Amino acid sequence: MNKDKRREIFQRLRDHNPAPTTELEYTTAFELLVAVVLSAQATDRGVNKATARLFPVANTPEAILALGEDGLKEHIKTIGLFNSKASNIMKLCRMLVDRHGGEVPRTRGELEALPGVGRKTANVILNTAFGQPTMAVDTHIYRVANRTGLAPGKTVREVEDRLVRWTPKEFLHDAHHWLILHGRYVCVARKPRCGACVIHDLCEYRDKTEE
Ligand code: SF4
Repeated sequence: MNKDKRREIFQRLRDHNPAPTTELEYTTAFELLVAVVLSAQATDRGVNKATARLFPVANTPEAILALGEDGLKEHIKTIGLFNSKASNIMKLCRMLVDRHGGEVPRTRGELEALPGVGRKTANVILNTAFGQPTMAVDTHIYRVANRTGLAPGKTVREVEDRLVRWTPKEFLHDAHHWLILHGRYVCVARKPRCGACVIHDLCEYRDKTEE
């Protein structure tokens, strides 16, 4: 795909949704971090329901530590893998208090050193909480980047690196939100909704659907 087409794709996605953001509900970097850790293999809606109960009671590392692991589980037990997520969040809170003064660190290395935090989660926090132009490639972005020809790659990391390198600077900060939303609602996994797609004429996917 050439760079003019790539620019036009992001232009259209931006025209369609000028101020995209995550569908996870949060008000602080710490709340976003907890929400992202909870969201692994769970829906944003399910996470939002649980955090709507949890955050009014505890939305700082200190408050969650005070709640205790069993107390935390009570609030998040509707989410898949809640036992291991609760354990990770407790360790993560302990590390934030012990090493970072209770604050969410702003570097990739420090974020990835936190329990339950991998490269993708670190990218979400760096981008959405701290405004850095990172690309958190999830299953939706991976699919959209490959199908459209925007940034084909055999691994998640390859797609991430290509998207960061090839996305025009002005779109880089919001690109991952546009691509996630596009993959979640239009370029869906089984049967993409090509007939309703705003980048239909630019996309290089060979098996477009009529719908
Ligand atoms: S045209 Fe179809 S395959 Fe291409 S981005 Fe749109 S929905 Fe996805």
